[in-house]
Amino acid sequence: MKTVIIDNGHGRDTAGKRSPDGRLLEWKWTRCVARRLCGKLRAAGLEPVLLVPGDADVTLRERCRRANELCSGREAVLLSLHTNASGNGKEWGTASGWSAFVSPNASENSRRLAALLHEEAVSRGLAGNRMTPSSGYYTANLAICRDTLCPAVLTENLFHDNLADVDYLLTDRGQENIAELHVWAVMKYFGES
Ligand SMILES: [Zn+2]
Repeated sequence: MKTVIIDNGHGRDTAGKRSPDGRLLEWKWTRCVARRLCGKLRAAGLEPVLLVPGDADVTLRERCRRANELCSGREAVLLSLHTNASGNGKEWGTASGWSAFVSPNASENSRRLAALLHEEAVSRGLAGNRMTPSSGYYTANLAICRDTLCPAVLTENLFHDNLADVDYLLTDRGQENIAELHVWAVMKYFGES
């Protein structure tokens, strides 16, 4: 069965990573959306696996090790879920919207998945106000993408230091839309839609 490894980013003890007003905690939000995503992927006939089922911080090195163990011998992709920030997180910023990242050593398949995710985010009205590279995704030296053996994309799901984005991220509609965009992009990637 086709496997989707979901990395819900940071843990309970990661410093910062929250909205200036403390309503949105990145580790909590990503766990909440990861759970929604698991249910939707299962319903779509794919096999979701949570890389970090608990709340504690798990090092990137260990997360990469787990991912590589999981994807060995299977058709798998990895999605690392995050929320973005444009400043130090103490004040509200103006940058908004959704973005995808791959590592500089990304395979063609990672790039294809990132482009599909971006296309889906844009079609769902989540583009935001930043200039996105023409490829649809950014490149950054991120261990979770760089050191994993399967296609891997890190998604920054709006900004936790943008007030309008935070308001949206805290709604059921916002969380549904973001979970669904990942499902649809992965289905297209695997050629199942
Ligand atoms: Zn993050």
